[in-house]
Amino acid sequence: MRIIKPLCRLLSPAGPSAKLSIFIFHRVLPLADPLLPFEPSAKQFDWMVRFITRTFNVLPLSEAARRLQAGTLPPAAASITFDDGYTNNLLVAWPILKRYGVSATFFIATAFLEGGHMWNDDVITAFRLAQTDELDLDAFGLGRHPLNDVTARVRGYRAVLGKLKYFEHRQRSEIARQIAIRCAVPAASELMMTHQQLRQLASEGAEIGGHTQTHPILENLDDVTALAEIATGKRELEELLDEPVQVFAYPSGIPDRDYSARHSEMVRQAGFIAAVTTRQACATSASGMFQLPRFTPWDRTPLRFALRSLTTLARAN
Ligand SMILES: [Zn+2]
Repeated sequence: MRIIKPLCRLLSPAGPSAKLSIFIFHRVLPLADPLLPFEPSAKQFDWMVRFITRTFNVLPLSEAARRLQAGTLPPAAASITFDDGYTNNLLVAWPILKRYGVSATFFIATAFLEGGHMWNDDVITAFRLAQTDELDLDAFGLGRHPLNDVTARVRGYRAVLGKLKYFEHRQRSEIARQIAIRCAVPAASELMMTHQQLRQLASEGAEIGGHTQTHPILENLDDVTALAEIATGKRELEELLDEPVQVFAYPSGIPDRDYSARHSEMVRQAGFIAAVTTRQACATSASGMFQLPRFTPWDRTPLRFALRSLTTLARAN
């Protein structure tokens, strides 16, 4: 592992040819959850942050983006980001980040704060609680899913989410709720942060970024609605936090499928200085401030995690 740090500095030198590694997380779980195999536990997140802070120079995303553009990044620059606004970001991830002395950027979809939860969590919880051997969702055009073990349940909800995320927002939420009701999922949840919790996170030094209001696939919206989603999400966060919100993450974030160049222009018009995607790569000065790629470190051993960080840096972008 000792070779990793000098290699990172070699692949990502300071100045104009610097690269910026932007890590994406969603939740950090108090304990590992077999139904959420791609979300790290607190213990795993602890070694991930230890590796990141020992290997990289971690900066808040707005500062990193500005310095990428100005050609003044330090060597092996990185930012840590979280999407969606889960309560465990404040309760589980933030204390670990603080312990290692680094900040992070949290992208918040404002409609789900204050006791709400996203449609995808209705579906995941339905697959968790379902008491039958099979979940028949043919009525929604979403197929039949065996539930005999955890692996089948994970495979089932991933297939459903992959299709459902492209449905129109209201229809998507309605179908997800109906699936949830069928499996006796309670309507109330504390999955997402309250306004007070988000204010606390910001007041302790976290950077807060925009992620629209209702997390739509922007490409599926007409332009007026897309701009309203982007701009209203920003305004609601700024009113809540009483500070400017400078960076944005495209919901779902795959270029030319989930959003396109016209949305990048809307993000710029709304007053953001930079935006991040989910294209798996490192950012360079050629990336463009409104299409900064990120990558998901889903590896669950320190060596593999380190190698993925390194190979992402080494790849041509
Ligand atoms: Zn998201």
